[in-house]
Order: sequence, then structure tokens, then C-alpha cells
Amino acid sequence: MTASLFDTHAHLADPQLAFEADTVIERAAAAGVSEVLALGYDLSSSESTVDLARRHPGTVYAAVGLHPHEADTGWETALRRLGELAADPAVVAIGEVGLDFYRGWASEARQRALLTAQLRMALEVGKPVCVHSRGAESAILAPLREFAAAAARAGMATPGVMHCFGGTLEQALPFVELGFMISVAGPVTYPKNGQTRALAAGLPAGSLVIETDSPYLPPQGMRGKRNEPALIVETARTVAAARGISFEELARMTTDNARRLLFATVSGVSRP
Ligand SMILES: [Zn+2]
Repeated sequence: MTASLFDTHAHLADPQLAFEADTVIERAAAAGVSEVLALGYDLSSSESTVDLARRHPGTVYAAVGLHPHEADTGWETALRRLGELAADPAVVAIGEVGLDFYRGWASEARQRALLTAQLRMALEVGKPVCVHSRGAESAILAPLREFAAAAARAGMATPGVMHCFGGTLEQALPFVELGFMISVAGPVTYPKNGQTRALAAGLPAGSLVIETDSPYLPPQGMRGKRNEPALIVETARTVAAARGISFEELARMTTDNARRLLFATVSGVSRP
């Protein structure tokens, strides 16, 4: 059997990809990417992501959520519609959610309120969260700790994933201890980014997943271009080399982890 990869973070509803989403998904399959988690960042991208997942069952899965950059908009109404979407069987996770104090496009208080509201929603539907954290690693730990404890009490297999983790291995470990997976993206391939290669090398085998964050963050070979799920192969090769294991072994490990993250239910039976 050939190795199959799971891209755990792609914005297929982003205008840069949405106009040819079906072709993008075909190219991914041809490159050995068997599954893609597509994420919304606002209400309309969440709705189109669910449509896409419904049209590609078994290949594309949806996450719905409001990005922290949306926190200063009137999201209370959007959140009600999102709550309905969240219960859809095509939706396997809530995201992307989080805190971004680095760019600071929305006030910190509103970002925290939006995150709390979406963590509550994730608990209600019993689905893991895909977390964006930038410049907020210490601020986000407390709400995620509370969420992880509640998720464990509810019998959820994992609380979620820290997407495109930009910190050190040491900074990742508190999240690993809470049960979060750590996701590594294209920047691991950048020659100067020894820190992320050390992170990818040192994480426990059961806690590592990979992603593209398409259309952003292309790997080294495609820098400056649009990213898409097919390009995850370069990231996978780099992570395999960093861990000193074969590409096939890395593919099996990260794909198993992604499936456990997204499809394991209370009883341990696969959802979709
Ligand atoms: Zn993203």
C-alpha cells in the first residue's frame, strides 16, 4: 500500500483556491494526499467548506469557525448559524479558532470572548478544536486547559490540535500534556527554521500531525507561490528526515494521528 497523507489544515474556501477547488482536490489525491481537513475562518467560508465536504465525502472534511481576526465584528449572530452548521455530520471539528495578539487586528478582550464562545460550542457538539495561537501562547493555555478537562470528562478522544505551531518543543509540551496534537506546516522546510525541525523531531510520535495552511505558507520549493494540499509532500519529507524515519513511516504515523484527532468518538468508533 502506498503512503497516504492527511492535510489537517487547508482553507479550500479561500478565494485563491475556491474557484478551482475540485481540481485542487484531484491534484492532492494524485500526490498521495488522501484526506484534507478544510477550515472556515468566517461564516461564509464555513458554509462553503461544509458544501465542499458534502461533495467530497471520504476525502474532504469540514471544520467551521470564526478566526480571531473576526473578533471585532458582530459575531454573535454568525455564531448562532455556526452552531447549526457545527452539528452537521460533514463537520468533524471546530476551527479555526484562537487568539492572535501578534497582528492585533481585533481587541484582546473580544478575541477571548469569541474563543470562549466557540470552545463552548465545540463541547456542545463533542468535536475537537483547531487552534490558531500567535503571540498568545501563555494567554491561551488557561482556556484550553479548562476545555481539555471538560472534553475529557465528556469522553472526547482528543481536545484538538495546535495548528502551525511556531514555538519551540518546550513551548509545545504543555499543550501535548493537555492532549492536544501539534501540527507542523510548510515553514519546517525553510533552511533557517531549525527550531521547527527540532520541534518536529522531538514531539511524541502520537502527537504530531502535518498541514499546509493553504493557500498560505508554501514549502521552500514553492515560496512566494500559492500553497495547496498537494504540496504537503515536501513538508512530510522534511519532517521524516528530521525524525530519522522513512517517508512511509511518517505518513502512516501522521495520518493515523489525524484520523484519531478527527474521527474518534466517545466510544472510540469512527464517525464518518
Ligand atoms: Zn488557517
